Amino acid sequence: MNIKKKIASQFIIIVAVLMLLSFIVVYYLFSSARKDGFYTRLSDKVQVFQDIDSLEPTVLKNFCSNISVSFPHEVIWVYNSQNELIYCTKKTVDIQLSPSILDILNTKGKGNFRINDNEIFGAKFNNNTEKYYVVIAAKDIYGFRKLQKLKIILLLVFFINFLVIYFIGRFFAVKSLKPISNIISQVNNINVENINSRIQAGNANDEIAQLAETFNKLLERIENFVTIQKDFITNSSHELRNPLTAITGQLEVALLQERTNEEYKGALQSVLEDIKRLNQMANRLLVLSRATNDLTTESFTPVRIDDVLWEARTEVLKNHKSYEVLLHFDESIKEEGHFMINGNLQLLKVAFFNLIDNGCKYSDNHKVDVNLSVQEERLKMVFQDNGIGIPEDEITSIFEPFYRAKNVRKNKGHGIGLSLVDKIVKLHKAEINVNSTLKRGTEFQVLFPLS
Ligand code: ADP
Repeated sequence: MNIKKKIASQFIIIVAVLMLLSFIVVYYLFSSARKDGFYTRLSDKVQVFQDIDSLEPTVLKNFCSNISVSFPHEVIWVYNSQNELIYCTKKTVDIQLSPSILDILNTKGKGNFRINDNEIFGAKFNNNTEKYYVVIAAKDIYGFRKLQKLKIILLLVFFINFLVIYFIGRFFAVKSLKPISNIISQVNNINVENINSRIQAGNANDEIAQLAETFNKLLERIENFVTIQKDFITNSSHELRNPLTAITGQLEVALLQERTNEEYKGALQSVLEDIKRLNQMANRLLVLSRATNDLTTESFTPVRIDDVLWEARTEVLKNHKSYEVLLHFDESIKEEGHFMINGNLQLLKVAFFNLIDNGCKYSDNHKVDVNLSVQEERLKMVFQDNGIGIPEDEITSIFEPFYRAKNVRKNKGHGIGLSLVDKIVKLHKAEINVNSTLKRGTEFQVLFPLS
């Protein structure tokens, strides 16, 4: 059942139940008013017998025929104090009055009774000589007819109202949900080709407009993501094509003519270097793509930051013997627990490796100082070099994939490392900041929350 039908049916059910209840109350009140009225009229008639002087049947007959008011199917009985019937207005009567009625009248003085459709009222009287009972029975044909009519009218009104409410309910449900249907059809028309389109939800400031706004924010994020993906594919194919072209060129030149063993060796050596770089780049691209798409904190385990740092340092030095990496541990680190964080060891190693490698790569003395300290409930790591620095207007761009500042063109690189570092740091709920002065040096700060 869709939401339109749900709202409409709930509305219809609530209104129908309320209507039904109020009609039942009206019917009940009318019915009890009829009953009270009829018994009052019966009782008024019985009261006439109060002042009767004689209980002689002929006197009683005379008396009864003089009473002007009479009810449909009316029967009047008069009993003496021994409960013997002394007079009845009809010869044959199909109503059987039980003796208990007279007992009740004797104790209570008067009472209402009902036998089938007949409504009965009786009262006990006392004239100067003896006690007697007068009982009257009649059918309230007109009252019941009115009641029946009322029932039909109420039922008719109920069904007509029900139909009206049904259509009104549907109309308002459709009307109030129209903006949502509108949004659904707009969203259905959005795909990768027109991901830059946005949902229009009028000028209102209601929940629907908020929903459209939320959708638009989501679309914006998806659009950014799609753009990054597109750029990523373009840039990475570009970065892969360059070394492949270089390798092809070198091999073609080598094969142009017969070469000496030394020349072949030289060509192979150069090709091997290119393939190694290619391989390294492919690995980084893989990690970057994983870090962008499917890395979760599920793989996290307790990790000792200083151990990871030493491992990253060893790896950097293995590749570049001339690099110098000094680790400094501040006194603020008072216990081993300060080094412990929840994280992914391999990813953290990649991040620290890149920060150390960059620091060494972009400084003439190929030296990086790494300072560790505890500050404001956070483990602070500072990777500091005295290198070429980063131009001020490019500092914010260096974390974008494939971005390389204009002052590093002579150095080899692909612009992947820092975007990877940024992703890894964020995944670990840490923070990264950069301070850099051109030709003076650069400082990367990574701040991990203490666990
Ligand atoms: P790559 O080093 O391969 O170019 P990265 O993503 O590691 O790529 O770095 C992106 C850019 O940030 C670098 O090209 C460089 O311009 C700048 N950068 C990073 N680290 C430093 C540093 N320590 N000193 C100066 N520039 C740096």
